Amino acid sequence: MSYLSDVYERFQRTNKNETEFCQAAKEVLDSLDILFQKENKYQKNAILERIVEPERLITFRVAWFDDAGKIQVNRGFRVQFNSTLGPYKGGLRFHPSVSASIIKFLGFEQIFKNALTGLPIGGAKGGSDFDPKGKSDAEIMRFCQAFMSELYRHIGACIDVPAGDIGVGGREIGYLYGQYKRLTGLYEGVLTGKKLLWGGSLARTEATGYGSVYFAQNMLKDRYQDFEGKTAVVSGAGNVAIYTIEKLQQLGAKAVTCSDSRGFIYDEQGIDLATLKELKETGTNQSLEDYLQKRPHAKYTAVKDYREGRNEVWSVPCDIAFPSATQNELNQEDAKELLKNGCTLISEGANMPSTPEAVDVFLDAGIMYGPGKAANAGGVAVSQLEMAQNASMLSWSFDEVDNKLKEIMANIYQQAASTAEEFDKKHNLVVGANIAAFRKVGDAMIEQGVY
Ligand code: NDP
Repeated sequence: MSYLSDVYERFQRTNKNETEFCQAAKEVLDSLDILFQKENKYQKNAILERIVEPERLITFRVAWFDDAGKIQVNRGFRVQFNSTLGPYKGGLRFHPSVSASIIKFLGFEQIFKNALTGLPIGGAKGGSDFDPKGKSDAEIMRFCQAFMSELYRHIGACIDVPAGDIGVGGREIGYLYGQYKRLTGLYEGVLTGKKLLWGGSLARTEATGYGSVYFAQNMLKDRYQDFEGKTAVVSGAGNVAIYTIEKLQQLGAKAVTCSDSRGFIYDEQGIDLATLKELKETGTNQSLEDYLQKRPHAKYTAVKDYREGRNEVWSVPCDIAFPSATQNELNQEDAKELLKNGCTLISEGANMPSTPEAVDVFLDAGIMYGPGKAANAGGVAVSQLEMAQNASMLSWSFDEVDNKLKEIMANIYQQAASTAEEFDKKHNLVVGANIAAFRKVGDAMIEQGVY
C-alpha cells in the first residue's frame, strides 16, 4: 500500500462516519501524490499525519431561554485546526445540520484557503446546530450570549478570531461581540464581520462574493475572455450569492438565478438586486416566491417540485456558474447538465459545493473550474484586513480594501495556476491550489519543529 493511501486509511478509521471531513481530506490527499513522488521531507516530518489532526476540537453545551421561558439546549463547536501561519481564523455557522464532521471539514479547508491568501492566519471553524430560522431577535441575542459565554475563554485577537458563515451575519456578530466585551472587558478585534460603527471594515460584506467573481475574471483572462454578454447561474440567496450577483452585473454579465432552501428564481431578464436584497437583507429571510410580486415575469420553482437529489438551478442554460449556497449542492448529473447546456466556467463561492464526481466531470472536460478554497478566499482575506485595521486603529476606504482584495484574488489564481503547470497539470486548479497551500503550511511546520 502506498504511503498516502496508508495515511488515508488510518485517517478514515479515526474519523469514522465523518463523511464530509473524509471527503475534504481525500481531495487534498489525492492531489498531493505527485508532490510526494518528488519530495520526501513532508513524509519524513509526518506533515500529512499532523495536518489532518486538529490541534484542538472544543465542543460545549449552549443552554438558553426561548421566548416562552423554556430552556433550550444546543451543541457548540470550535475546531482550532492549525496555527502554523498565524492566529486561528475561520467563521461560525449556525445551522441545524452542523456536526463535528461539518465543522472539521470546514476547518480543514480553511487551513489551505488561509495559506493561499498569503496573509498570516491559521485555520479554524466553529458553530452550532442552533437553527436561527423562525427565532425572534431576542432569542437570537440570548443564544449568541450563551454561545459566547463558553467560547470567550478560547479566543482572542492574537489567539483565534471567528467570523460569520451560514446563519451568522452582522447582527449575530454584534451580539457575540457585545458578550465577549462584557465578559473580558476587552475592546479588541476578536471577531471580524463587525459593523462599521464598532471596528468593521468596508468591503467585508461584499468580499466573498466579489472575490469569487474576481477569481473567475482571472480564469477568463487567461483564456482571453471577459464577462461581457455572459449569462450566469448563481445558487444561494445569502451574503455570498447577493454580492456575487452584484459584481457580475457590474462587470457586464447577466445573473439569472438565485435560490434558497425553499426554492429558486429564474429571471430571464437578470436578477433584480434591489428586490433580492429587500427580501434577504432585512433580517426577515422572506420566501423567494415574494420576488414575483415585483418581477411577475420571473419563474419560481419550489424545492418540493424538484427531482429527487437534484438542484434545479443547474439545469438553467448558462455560460458561467457560481455555486454559492452550501456543500455538495452540485452533483455529477448537475455537472453533466451544465456542460451540455454550454457552461464553461465554475467559480465556487460556497465551501465544497461540488461533489467529487462533479469535480471529475469539470476537470475531465477541461473547463475553467475554481475550487472553493481558492475562489472564495476573498472573505477571509478581507477579514484579515479588518484585523490589521483594528490592530493599527485605522480604517481604510472601500476602494483601498477592494483593490487589495483584487490583488489577493489575482495572486491566489496565479499561485494555483503556476503550481498546476509546474506539476504538468495545466489548468487543474484543484491540484495547483492544494499543493501550493500544503507546501506553505508544511514548510512552516517543519521550520517550527514537532508539536
Ligand atoms: P448565508 O446564511 O448568508 O446564506 C446561505 C444561503 O444558502 C441561503 O440562501 C440559504 O437558504 C442557502 N442554503 C443554506 N443551506 C442550504 C441547503 N442545505 N440547501 C439549500 N440552500 C441552502 O450564508 P453565506 O452566503 O455566508 O454562505 C454561503 C456559502 O459560502 C457557505 O458554503 C459558506 O461556508 C461559504 N462561505 C461564506 C463566506 C462568507 O464570508 N460569508 C466565506 C467563504 C465561504 P436558507 O436561508 O433558506 O437556508
